[in-house]
Amino acid sequence: MLDKVVIANRGEIALRILRACKELGIKTVAIHSQADKDLMHVRLADEAVCIGPAQSAKSYLNVPSIIAAAEVTDAVGIHPGYGFLAENADFAEQVERSGFAFIGPKAETIRLMGDKVSAIEAMKVAGVPTVPGSDGALSEDPEEIQAIAKRIGYPVIIKAASGGGGRGMRVVHSEAALSNSIRVTQSEAAAAFGDDTVYMEKYLENPRHVEVQVLADGQGNAIHLYDRDCSMQRRHQKVVEEAPAPHLDEDARAQVLQSCVDACIKIGYRGAGTFEFLYENGGFYFIEMNTRVQVEHPVTEMITGVDIVKEQLRIASGLPLSLKQEDIKVQGHSFECRINAEDSKTFLPCPGTIKHFHAPGGIGIRVDSHIYNGYTVPPHYDSLIAKLISFGEDRETALKRMSIALDEMLVDGIRSNIPLQQEIVKDPNFQEGGVNIHYLEKKLGL
Ligand code: ADP
Repeated sequence: MLDKVVIANRGEIALRILRACKELGIKTVAIHSQADKDLMHVRLADEAVCIGPAQSAKSYLNVPSIIAAAEVTDAVGIHPGYGFLAENADFAEQVERSGFAFIGPKAETIRLMGDKVSAIEAMKVAGVPTVPGSDGALSEDPEEIQAIAKRIGYPVIIKAASGGGGRGMRVVHSEAALSNSIRVTQSEAAAAFGDDTVYMEKYLENPRHVEVQVLADGQGNAIHLYDRDCSMQRRHQKVVEEAPAPHLDEDARAQVLQSCVDACIKIGYRGAGTFEFLYENGGFYFIEMNTRVQVEHPVTEMITGVDIVKEQLRIASGLPLSLKQEDIKVQGHSFECRINAEDSKTFLPCPGTIKHFHAPGGIGIRVDSHIYNGYTVPPHYDSLIAKLISFGEDRETALKRMSIALDEMLVDGIRSNIPLQQEIVKDPNFQEGGVNIHYLEKKLGL
């Protein structure tokens, strides 16, 4: 087992990683910016190193400082969490070149999956269902491009190969708009990502977002931990997640779960990962793979009993998977509401000091959060302050417990999106299950 690990992140995920390390007897090093010296995990870690000023570019994205912190503390591994450097192949490479274990996949896998064109190509080869579209990057030939669009049928979507965070995409409804849309997406992609490669996909009009959690040891073993539904989104940001995904076609589900496991073995995947799909009319369509732990991993932990972060640490220690597919049984249902320091109506971030925090509890309730009475939410980072997770023997029970917990939860001193979450869990269509990715924005009149 790894002896000492640097937690290269902040907030709730840093605390989550710290807890897993403690359980496994791994020593911990918290690195933090000057604005984050009062974070909960900084107090609880064995050692703490300040790596720079508040701006992420000078602290949490500062590769030399992070590696220096690992060196001076004699750590042996670096856990990147999610966001920041978690999917940066150059970082993973430098970590390993400097002699540390990167708690995630190999750099080459991150690179393969970071380029959407090569990721889709790898998925096709592995038998994972993809969205009908161009065979790789679009050429310069307008006639060829028009023929592809005609074949897959309008509307189509032009996407940047290096795009991310919901940027670098444009929907096209007719041939008249096609060439101009491609030009605009190309120049936007060149400016934003330094790469003007674009490709085309069929635009699915009312899909759900369904994703598959996997674990692989890079030694030929891989398993899936079933699926999650994250369709409740605003501006491509997930707001509520649940596991398992409700009302799926069972044959299609079984096939897609198996194809994800096959793909992991084929690409030599190592660590925890997520295959993201659009799901429409009983079919799954791969859109991208996330090569890291995700914000919503707890809902999968609740229904499978598997500690995903502990598994990441075991895999990075070089141990083979301790679990077999037949050990993984889905029991019950779980929801996660993301609690953000933001206004429930305007969605503007509301940093500031939390005067009073009351965490809900009771059977089937889990709160993953770094906040406490008197904690000041800094304005420099993501507004996520807590993840409220519920579990029940069935979907209805889990949802009822979530509703009660939201009513109990108190975050005083700053505004939060708890009122929005209360509204969502009372929504009859959400209660029924299976709403599509546009549902929340339509409900909010956006
Ligand atoms: P990013 O890496 O920027 O998150 P994704 O490829 O994951 O990009 O797509 C982000 C979102 O864009 C998806 O969750 C979905 O809402 C929408 N989207 C992407 N591709 C399609 C498509 N072919 N049809 C419909 N919507 C799409």
